Amino acid sequence: PGPRIKWDVQSQKRQKKVAVLTSGGDSAGMNAAVRAVVRQAIARGCQAYIIREGWEGLVRGNTAAVPTPAPSRRGSEAPSPSINAMQTFSFTQSFTPEDLKLGAAAARVTGDVSEGSSDDDSTDDEDVPVRFSDPMRVAPLTAAPLSFGYGSLLRDGAGEADIDEDGAFHMPEENVGGGKTLRGRYIVRVGWDDVRGWLGEGGTLIGSSRCPSFRTREGRLKAAHNLIRFGIDCLAVCGGDGSLTGADMLRAEWPSLIKELKGKGDITAEELEAHRHLNIVGLVGSIDNDMAMTDLTIGAITALHRICEAIDSIGSTASSHSRAFVIEVMGRHCGWLALMAGVATGADFIFIPEHPPPKQNWEDEMCGVLKKHRRLGKRKTIVIVAEGALDSDLKPIKPEYVKEILSGRLGLDTRVTTLGHTQRGGVPAAFDRILPTLQGVKAVDTLLEATPNTPSYMIGISENKITKIPLLEAVAQTKKVADAIEAMDFDLAMSYRDSEFTDMITAFNISSSLPASERLPDDMRLRIAIIHVGAPAGGMNAATRQAVRFCHERGHVPLAIYNGWEGLLDDNVSELSWLRVDNWTTRGGSELGTNRTLPDVDMGQVASALQRHQIDAMLVIGGFEGYNSVRLLEKSRHNYPALCIPMVHLPATISNNVPMTDFSLGSDTSLNALVVAADAIKQSAAASRNRVFVVDVQGGMSGYIAVLGALAVGALLVYTPEQGINLSCLVEDVEFLKERYALDEKGKSEGRLVIRSEKSSSVYTTEVITNILKEEGADLFDARSASLGHTLQGGVPSPLDRTRAARLAMLSMQFLEKHAQPGSQAFHRRRAGEEMIGHETAAMIAIRGSKIVFASMSDVQNHTDMKRRRGTDVWWAGVKGLTEVMGGRTGVLVDM
Ligand code: ATP
Repeated sequence: PGPRIKWDVQSQKRQKKVAVLTSGGDSAGMNAAVRAVVRQAIARGCQAYIIREGWEGLVRGNTAAVPTPAPSRRGSEAPSPSINAMQTFSFTQSFTPEDLKLGAAAARVTGDVSEGSSDDDSTDDEDVPVRFSDPMRVAPLTAAPLSFGYGSLLRDGAGEADIDEDGAFHMPEENVGGGKTLRGRYIVRVGWDDVRGWLGEGGTLIGSSRCPSFRTREGRLKAAHNLIRFGIDCLAVCGGDGSLTGADMLRAEWPSLIKELKGKGDITAEELEAHRHLNIVGLVGSIDNDMAMTDLTIGAITALHRICEAIDSIGSTASSHSRAFVIEVMGRHCGWLALMAGVATGADFIFIPEHPPPKQNWEDEMCGVLKKHRRLGKRKTIVIVAEGALDSDLKPIKPEYVKEILSGRLGLDTRVTTLGHTQRGGVPAAFDRILPTLQGVKAVDTLLEATPNTPSYMIGISENKITKIPLLEAVAQTKKVADAIEAMDFDLAMSYRDSEFTDMITAFNISSSLPASERLPDDMRLRIAIIHVGAPAGGMNAATRQAVRFCHERGHVPLAIYNGWEGLLDDNVSELSWLRVDNWTTRGGSELGTNRTLPDVDMGQVASALQRHQIDAMLVIGGFEGYNSVRLLEKSRHNYPALCIPMVHLPATISNNVPMTDFSLGSDTSLNALVVAADAIKQSAAASRNRVFVVDVQGGMSGYIAVLGALAVGALLVYTPEQGINLSCLVEDVEFLKERYALDEKGKSEGRLVIRSEKSSSVYTTEVITNILKEEGADLFDARSASLGHTLQGGVPSPLDRTRAARLAMLSMQFLEKHAQPGSQAFHRRRAGEEMIGHETAAMIAIRGSKIVFASMSDVQNHTDMKRRRGTDVWWAGVKGLTEVMGGRTGVLVDM
């Protein structure tokens, strides 16, 4: 875990105003980003604003209403005398600006802040840092989170204000003639509850647009003016590379824009002074994943879900009729979606912009590969074409042309399917709720920490680390990819993509496309065993498929050990063919069969079986038992020379409790299963208005699924085995729930979730907690429980687990090959049982921060709590606090 961060409520003389907008193409997860920015801003004592319709809204500003209902005593937010906000919106609750300041109000409760902080003039000269006095979860929620109706207006689609008499939707406009005025409020102050329920909503509820006028200086001048008119100090922009390029332009021009505004008399000298520096931060929301310097953009994973669902469905009909399908997916300048979909669905051939097929006759190469697949017995052919696919002369490769080739040359009954806008979204995947929440929080913190000397940042992610990168650099780097493609320097274009991208191309080529050109000579070929150990987890089969395809590519013999170590003792071992594993990317569970038995059930017999089958190297796919197996085998090497073979453990378990690695295969599938189930439960809880559901989830002694699941579904409380449950925390939690429900408007209470990991406490069981809540909730809320049980193992593995499986399995096989050193003398002596090998040859492949590493068993052991069967340190420890902050709890210590 990183350093402890204690959030301070902002103590500016003037309360800071943080605005957020979404721009460009919509993507799933944008709402989660807006929610996180709004809530984190309020939690840190700022006012939160949303700007509707992207840059368009900022350029237009509010044409028919006052900028903000908050009265100002400082003169910079001159309230409009004509129309006041109450006329424009039917607020269901009257409020004062103070009501919104949850953080500040809570801080006062802890008694550590002088009276009248924030925008009270009396504090003008006191720049006292406001701190939560007690870092523990003690400060109850006291300020009323507002529900002034705007949220539901947005959620129900176009607001009344946006629909004319004919029922047609318009961009809100000023006077549209005929005595009819559409209310044009683009910049709106929002409260805590306005973003309630937004985690599970696709697209963007605050609207997005392409805004030509923002491309002009005149447009940006208007935008700057509106920011200053509203007193907005901090702006978070969620959009693709175009939108962030726009943000960067605004940042770069800011000094000259404000000078011009002052020159024209549009802003006062005080306003100029107060807004000398623009704090702007970018959140990358784009399904294409085309932004440089971040591994993933908000919405890309959900788009990949939609694509994989479609291709999986097409696969069954293609197989039934022995057809070929050419599928076009989005991606104008970036082939990420096409590549990942190719790996995740086991496609036969892909076309992407930054890695075109070889110069001459790509048609011949494609036909050769597809013919080979058909000869091996495949009944379906899937070719994926990215929207922006090019050949090496920059000539676009279009699906219709590919179809002509497949029908004409190969005689395949071929169809073209363009997935189009179905890819844009729908319900966000778990990842696209978690990533934007973490990034939204980071965005607000980055804005509030900014000084005139810090650059504007873009919030990114590198493997598993939320990062901030200078916006200028990220925008410039992104442009370089397009420039390199245009200059036909594809190697350069590829060098700007992250290592995962390159690994995935290799993995795809190994598993699907290329003919076996890389075969090793006979005496260098290995017999590599693959075994599943422990409970089933999504991605185990996909990893096995990749390992098998690697073997076929290189000439090794892939041997499946069925039913774990017991199966090995029964000689349940056989070779896997190329075709046999073809559909395994999409299969959940374990095709090989798996159980928890460890090799020490009979180590001598295990060693003798490995010798009998002449195993040269071994891939062990599984959870904690997988690690334990390799550890025990390595320890027994001095007794049994047959165990002196390279071995890799590839972590796969839904509970993500394998030490040292940030992620195990299956954990993403499981989170998605949780999200689907919990969304449905929440809906039921909401329908009965005042119900709390205590949802029991698996995870053994690891709280990973519970904590990340709670963040993804917006649960209010989460109980984990790491932190346990005691009476005093239950008392606080009950009080918190009571206060939360007491703040709800009558008849409009929300269904709420509490997530409890199964082993959080042996005394305070799910049933006990439910009964306590039922009893204590009295008239405020009712309680029920639900147990998700084995459903969390998931059905079809998620795309993330499939692609991760392919990458990790490929790297594991490369590791085994390297350490077996086929053809070397040592290799032959080892085969004869004559030589010991080093500790480094028994390893675990682990995702650690921004790296993939091979950790020796002793390294792993140093990070293991054997008794509790989990790692000694976990990266998600602080996420529990964050979940509670996002649920409206204050005074929470967040360890991130
Ligand atoms: P997506 O990746 O989904 O296409 P995007 O953000 O790249 O999203 P664009 O249409 O390129 O989508 O950009 C969205 C908006 O950002 C534009 O309509 C425009 O208002 C602004 N924008 C884009 N490029 C620039 C630029 N070079 N200068 C100023 N503003 C820009």
